[in-house]
Amino acid sequence: MPDLREATNHLAPLSLPAQISLYFPGRDGRLGWQDSPELPVIRAERRRLRDWLSTNIPIQWGKRVRKVEHDDEGVAVVFEDGSRAEGDILVGADGIKSVVREYLLQRSSDELLKLVPLAAIVGEVDLSGEAFKRQLQLGHSAYVFVSPDIGFWNFGGLHHAYPDGRSGRHYWMFMESDAHVADADHWLQTATQDEKLDYVLKKVAKMPPKFREVFEATPASGIKKEPHIWRDLELENVPAGRVILMGDAAHAMTPFRGEGGHHTFIDAMQLSQVLGKVNERDIESIKAAVAEYNAEMLERGVEAVRNSRTEQAARKSEERKSNSQSPATLPKPLPEVEIVLG
Ligand SMILES: Cc1cc2nc3c(=O)[nH]c(=O)nc-3n(C[C@H](O)[C@H](O)[C@H](O)COP(=O)(O)OP(=O)(O)OC[C@H]3O[C@@H](n4cnc5c(N)ncnc54)[C@H](O)[C@@H]3O)c2cc1C
Repeated sequence: MPDLREATNHLAPLSLPAQISLYFPGRDGRLGWQDSPELPVIRAERRRLRDWLSTNIPIQWGKRVRKVEHDDEGVAVVFEDGSRAEGDILVGADGIKSVVREYLLQRSSDELLKLVPLAAIVGEVDLSGEAFKRQLQLGHSAYVFVSPDIGFWNFGGLHHAYPDGRSGRHYWMFMESDAHVADADHWLQTATQDEKLDYVLKKVAKMPPKFREVFEATPASGIKKEPHIWRDLELENVPAGRVILMGDAAHAMTPFRGEGGHHTFIDAMQLSQVLGKVNERDIESIKAAVAEYNAEMLERGVEAVRNSRTEQAARKSEERKSNSQSPATLPKPLPEVEIVLG
């Protein structure tokens, strides 16, 4: 495998360490995390991470699962193009709207997924030169700006730097509490890109200028067209057999702790370990191994889903109390360091 850090680094070709900042009301400086030998942080760009994960794996793109068949002897998948694949084990890593989960649990995604009462408007913009530098200064990789007094919060981040090292693709996510966000007549269901940008610009007018800049630089064409509705998933039980769930299919969570992908990696490593010990012809050994995986995965997954949900509330103040975070990983004051572009 190529070196993970190098192959996926979203800041390349800049030599800045990955860094995430938190800005709280009434606090001058910032808290956050920065890549260091004591607390390594790898901020991976999504496409580069997928390329890295694909190393030496022959993937057939565009195959959509329509139907799953299984019994104690084996498993088969029927794809939308009519083709079929057979094997010993099926791992459903097909995301939040998993067809494999619907099949395995015989319950629809609509029934299982829980609405998160939050309205979000998402924008993307290219910035260069001094404007690029000012965003990096706020947080090399990303930053969260929380201001309950003005009623919303923002997650802003660098998607990736461009090869010239003087510009980058940035994104932001403007969020506010809204229990009605999924209602059919909610204004965000039909709002145009211009309407969404106007709304955000009015709201951010009260922010300090350095935090407003990324919104004001975004053209209407940079606003995500589709409504953005968050949902998460807590499963109590999953049957143990030849069909297995992992990742968002098993425990979709909001991204407020940036942990969904992290837990998907843990699932994959745990599952590899237990499957390495089974005889694929012996259904009892498969059931025992998968039950062991499911128990650990569901307990860890549900805890992460709940912690991610409450993170937003916790971030309303600096007094973040999270029993799943060790003191070493709590955010620390980050010094201001001048950024020099090549
Ligand atoms: C805005 C945002 C920010 C995030 N930030 C972070 C972060 O900083 N850190 C972190 O760890 N996590 C983060 N996450 C969460 C992370 O992206 C997910 O937890 C992770 O991608 C889950 O991986 P997965 O393989 O389970 O599902 P996915 O990445 O959703 O992959 C599922 C795949 O299955 C395919 N698929 C779906 N249906 C079918 C079908 N019927 N047949 C065949 N294929 C199908 C899809 O096309 C897709 O390729 C973030 C999520 C969001 C939305």
